[in-house]
Order: sequence, then structure tokens, then C-alpha cells
Amino acid sequence: MIVTVASGKGGTGKTLVATGLAAVVAESCAVVCLLDCDVEAPNAHLFLKPALTGCEEVSLPVPQVDLARCTFCGRCAEVCAFHALAVVGRQVLTFAELCHGCGSCARQCPEGAISEVPRRLGVVEWGWAGRVRLARGVLDVGQAMATPVIRRLKQRALEGVGGPALVLLDAPPGNACAVVETLRGSDFALLVTEPTPFGLHDLEIAVQVAREELGLPVGVVINRDGIGDGGVEGYCAHAGLPILLRIPFDRRIAAACAAGGLWVDAVPEYREGMRGLYRTLQETGGAAP
Ligand code: SF4
Ligand code: SF4
Repeated sequence: MIVTVASGKGGTGKTLVATGLAAVVAESCAVVCLLDCDVEAPNAHLFLKPALTGCEEVSLPVPQVDLARCTFCGRCAEVCAFHALAVVGRQVLTFAELCHGCGSCARQCPEGAISEVPRRLGVVEWGWAGRVRLARGVLDVGQAMATPVIRRLKQRALEGVGGPALVLLDAPPGNACAVVETLRGSDFALLVTEPTPFGLHDLEIAVQVAREELGLPVGVVINRDGIGDGGVEGYCAHAGLPILLRIPFDRRIAAACAAGGLWVDAVPEYREGMRGLYRTLQETGGAAP
């Protein structure tokens, strides 16, 4: 079962839920696989402390123009949907940061003047934290193209795992392309929110993306339960969203995370909540109850 842990905004507790669930479920499952898809700022490793055993570069093929063959016809710039090429006089300008590596320009060039060269975006790393297989993508500083790194992370991390009982994807914050790429192919979207107007606003957008756009079954985890107002509960009731778990606003959890520890070890009474959440996901087979 592939479950993406997402939320509309950062700081709501996605990694808290993903790491806690992974650690607790791994005690009873053959393998739990946790993929940290927040490639701009991966942090699951801070709490699980894996021994990383593998690393692979992720790159994107970008065009390189042979000016000796180019006739400056402009076809490459015409077909590029991302404005990553411009033909100005007798020059072809390439803007590699905008290139999505689709290959259209090379295929469409009538002179065969375009070849492709790799442009490094970041790395994918993997290893083990006890019985949890942890993999993460790390985008290089200054790079903005997160989706190819996430796509490769998902491919690479799931190769040869041998049918894990649970695959958890810790999504990036927000609701943009990187989150859609993370959610794609999942069986269930577990949306973590907090009971505040900000949490509600971003939850509504996350539901729109996961349930309405991608057609995924969705469940909600309310973190820091006990603060804020009743807006999130009212919305969930109205939208038919099951609240699968509530994690109280508990200073001990914050202290454990600030110390770089695993919160379900520091405050073990919450482990049963994680087991219950996993049972619910199992019983529903990834479909919303
Ligand atoms: S399509 Fe090929 S020949 Fe035409 S401008 Fe681009 S690189 Fe040059
Ligand atoms: S590979 Fe695609 S995105 Fe990149 S410059 Fe060529 S047409 Fe544009």
C-alpha cells in the first residue's frame, strides 16, 4: 500500500506523522519504505538516523546547439513550451534552468544541430534505519526543478524492495507540481493539518488536489489538536472527510523533535495511535472509510 503524507503548508507535522508511522509499523511489518520527497529540505533522516548505503546523481538532458550546423531557423524556440530557447540573430540562447528535458527541440531541429547534455539537479540517497528503508531526494542548492528528482526517487527507492507492506511518501509542502508528482500513483492521501484558519485554508486546497484532481481516497490527521477553532472539524464533516487520528498539542512532542529524537520513542503513549492509524489504512485497503 502506498500512502502519501501531505498537507497544504509546511510545519503542520507531515514528517512527524510519516516518521512515527514508519517506526511503529516497522515493528510488525517485514519492510516499511519511507521516501522523503521534500527534496528542497529533506528532514526525515534527522529523526530516523539511517545508515545511508547508496547514492545516485539525478540529471536532466538539456540542449546543446552546434552552431556550425544551425541555420537559425527558429524551429527549436517555437516548439519549446517552456521558453528555454531563443534564436536572436545568429545566436541560439539556451536557458537551462527553464528546460524540462522533454527533447522536443532536438527532435524538431531540421538540421540535427541539437544534442543533449546532462545537467545535474541533485541526488537520490537510500539506506536503512533499523527495519525502515529510508530514501530521500536532495536538490542541489540553486536548483528549482524538484519533480525530476522526486520521480527518480520513487523509481529508484521502490526497485527491488521485495513487496513492502507499507510505502510512505513524505510530500513537500504546498500544492504545486512537486506535490502532484509525489501523490501520483499513491493508494491513499493522508492529509495532515492543524485546527486553525491557516490549516483549514491549506487543507481545502490539498483536498482539491488529492481528491478532486487526482481521484485519491483521502483521510485527515489533525495535529496540535486542542488549539485553534472548530473550522477544520466542520469542514471535514461537511466534505465527508474521515478524521483518522488526532495528535494533541503536547509540549513533549515538540521537545523530542527539537532534540532530534523520534517522538514516538520519547512519548510512547502515542504509539497506539499510530498502530490504530495503520489498522484503519489496512482495513480500508487504501480506500477512505
Ligand atoms: S531548430 Fe536547429 S537549425 Fe533551427 S535554430 Fe534551432 S538549432 Fe538551429
Ligand atoms: S528539451 Fe524541451 S524544455 Fe528543454 S529546451 Fe528543448 S524543447 Fe524546451
